[in-house]
Amino acid sequence: MVDFDSNYRQTISGRLVSADKTFAAYNPATRKVIAEVPDASQAQLDDAVAAARAAFRAWRNSSVAERTHALNTIADLIEKNSESFMTLLTREQGKPRAGAQWEIMGSAIWCREIAKQTLPEEIVEDTADRRVVTRFSPLGVVGGIVPWNFPVLLAIWKIAPALVTGNTIIVKPSPFTPLCTLKLGELCRDVLPPGVLSVVSGGDDLGKWMTAHPGISKIAFTGHTDTGKDVMRSAAGTLKRITLELGGNDPAIVLADVDPKKIVPELFWAAFQNNAQFCNATKRLYVHEDVYDEVLKEMVTYSKSVKVGDGERPDTQLGPIQNQPQYEKVIEYFEDCRKHGYRFAVGGQIDRSAHGWFVPVTLVDNPPETSRIVTEEPFGPILPVLKWKDEADVIRRANDTVYGLGASVWGMDLEAVQRIGSQLEAGTVWLNEVHQYSPHQAFGGHKQSGIGCENSLHGLMEYTNWHTITLNKNAGFGRQSTTKAA
Ligand code: NAD
Repeated sequence: MVDFDSNYRQTISGRLVSADKTFAAYNPATRKVIAEVPDASQAQLDDAVAAARAAFRAWRNSSVAERTHALNTIADLIEKNSESFMTLLTREQGKPRAGAQWEIMGSAIWCREIAKQTLPEEIVEDTADRRVVTRFSPLGVVGGIVPWNFPVLLAIWKIAPALVTGNTIIVKPSPFTPLCTLKLGELCRDVLPPGVLSVVSGGDDLGKWMTAHPGISKIAFTGHTDTGKDVMRSAAGTLKRITLELGGNDPAIVLADVDPKKIVPELFWAAFQNNAQFCNATKRLYVHEDVYDEVLKEMVTYSKSVKVGDGERPDTQLGPIQNQPQYEKVIEYFEDCRKHGYRFAVGGQIDRSAHGWFVPVTLVDNPPETSRIVTEEPFGPILPVLKWKDEADVIRRANDTVYGLGASVWGMDLEAVQRIGSQLEAGTVWLNEVHQYSPHQAFGGHKQSGIGCENSLHGLMEYTNWHTITLNKNAGFGRQSTTKAA
């Protein structure tokens, strides 16, 4: 039995390990410390890398059946402990119960579905003279670096493909949400040989040590675009493979033919799911001028009906901002809007004396296209609602960003919806829906939203090296050919 309420330790070489130093984990709804967490030393990272490299020798040769079984058993363990995971996730991350359930049960589903994926070897040529085969071999040790918005799911998005392709992996959760991941590592000790999966906890420096470590072959990173650039720079020192899943500034384009009342719940949750701490949250809502006033009015009404509070309360729909630095960052956007005189259609007032890092749902009425709230990623519940008239112009505005993670288009005229959608520069474009993900659907960003992708066989391939093996069946230097020649 794993105790989810205390004793948070790292998993290194199959052992539970504390550290000389610790740091605090907080409940964002109360600002209270809920745990002390090991702060890994560089020597502990070295131990984890040595164990992962040693484990790789056997794991790379394990059968597909063995790896599939391991991932399915991890899924079983997540499901069996789902109550404990959900409670702890709400406590450390702040997300309400429904969000915690989606993330934890989704993590189990991802394990099972990724376990079904394989990269078949490709027979390029098989003739009387030559046989050429391209195989997909594991890379070695993967370093998985994870943010705080979906700490468990985004760890699984790295663990599952790394393990099924025969790599070993060291996961570093965000220092703001380490607890569930540490417990996941502890549980997996019963499933995986020592060193196949390690979980180390620490601050940003630990991430930097990982990206520079010569014993790690690949970094699978999800986080901020600026951090992604640091990761890329540091990984260059050892030419590590990298997958970077970074920030976004997703536009949603709403056509004139929608029914405002019916569409507003969809648009609201597109923007505010997970309290807008979501890489793929709609961060710019472009509404056609014919329905702008009505959509905005309905958005205001709907916003007022949504309950913000402690995620542990059963009626809460949106939780707090997850951590204090992010809270301060989000407040800057409120202040910037106020300073420039932009109109808050709803929200806008922050009560700094609240017991948690709470921010009200806020809509900004048609701010300028060059404002910070439009051009940057606030990663909090403040959304600019923008007016458009001309189709070519709104497409240009939607694409006028360094980001390219996701986008959505909403309307009854399916031809127009598809025409507009096909011109949006983003890794995923949703048409009349949003936030539909699948283990079999490639997910990643264009432009500065990332490099590479996760999920699907394309994502799986990123955990492998191409390995082309050619055989000349009629070599002229052997005994047989000498005899033949004679
Ligand atoms: P962050 O970049 O601050 O931190 C992410 C992780 O990187 C943490 O574990 C952190 O400790 C570590 N880290 C920090 N500095 C590092 C460095 N120099 N080298 C190596 N590791 C380092 O991001 P965050 O604030 O935790 O997450 C929010 C960001 O993540 C947002 O920009 C959001 O859009 C993005 N995000 C992207 C996706 C996606 O799939 N594209 C998904 C979720 C979140």
